[in-house]
Amino acid sequence: ANVTLNNIKENQIIRKNYPCIAEAASSVAGPTHQQYGTVGGNLCLDTRCLFYNQSEWWRQSNDYCLKERGEICHVAPGGKRCFAAFSGDLAPSMLVYDAEIFVIGTSGSRRIPLSDLYKDDGMAHLSLEPGELVDRIHLPSTLTNSTSRYEKSRIRGSIDFPLAGVAVRLRKGNSGAIEDIAIALTAVNPYPKVVTGLEVLIGSKLGNQELDLIRDTVRKQSKPMRTTTVAPWYRRRVVGAIARRLAAELSA
Ligand code: SF4
Repeated sequence: ANVTLNNIKENQIIRKNYPCIAEAASSVAGPTHQQYGTVGGNLCLDTRCLFYNQSEWWRQSNDYCLKERGEICHVAPGGKRCFAAFSGDLAPSMLVYDAEIFVIGTSGSRRIPLSDLYKDDGMAHLSLEPGELVDRIHLPSTLTNSTSRYEKSRIRGSIDFPLAGVAVRLRKGNSGAIEDIAIALTAVNPYPKVVTGLEVLIGSKLGNQELDLIRDTVRKQSKPMRTTTVAPWYRRRVVGAIARRLAAELSA
């Protein structure tokens, strides 16, 4: 967990066998941050919201919000939930490889799927108990016969969190038909989202109809809220477009 993002992006084994993980590491913030930012830190990144990631005086002048000290959510004022978006880059790239993590704490160690680290709750999005921390990450070698990509949209080309990020992993057979496909998203839900319902593509070649289905499935399962300066409808369109394009590129 304390391997730096820079080590990940330069590691030849990762680049060859898990290319989208190296791409995700190289897209975090800027090169200087990657020198000291770690895998564990990026997986456990706090959720983000325009109304939360502000200075104390700014938040105080808005009476804070549900995530800390306040009584209403400025994003969804009628509700009692926090929709702050998980915006880590590594998690989706590792989720498409069915990563597992080792968690250690005062009562010992446990091994869980990476997906179980996250909860659909912007206020408390990690399932870690008090005193627990992520120790190691396990990537199965059985999926290294796939190709993969990670890409994110952000306001600036560097030193910025994703507004919508997508990891795609796929494997084609000799006939060109899809044998395996996995897609995971970041920045459009309070947790990194593994897209479901893609098994209908197994055995098909990715033509326009299949690529449109990928785009629409991704859009439906992303739930961006007004947590950034960029409108939710736009982020939903972008996340679908990135997924479609990456799938087309990998398939070609
Ligand atoms: Fe606060 Fe609502 Fe933003 Fe959560 S989604 S950080 S409760 S304003």
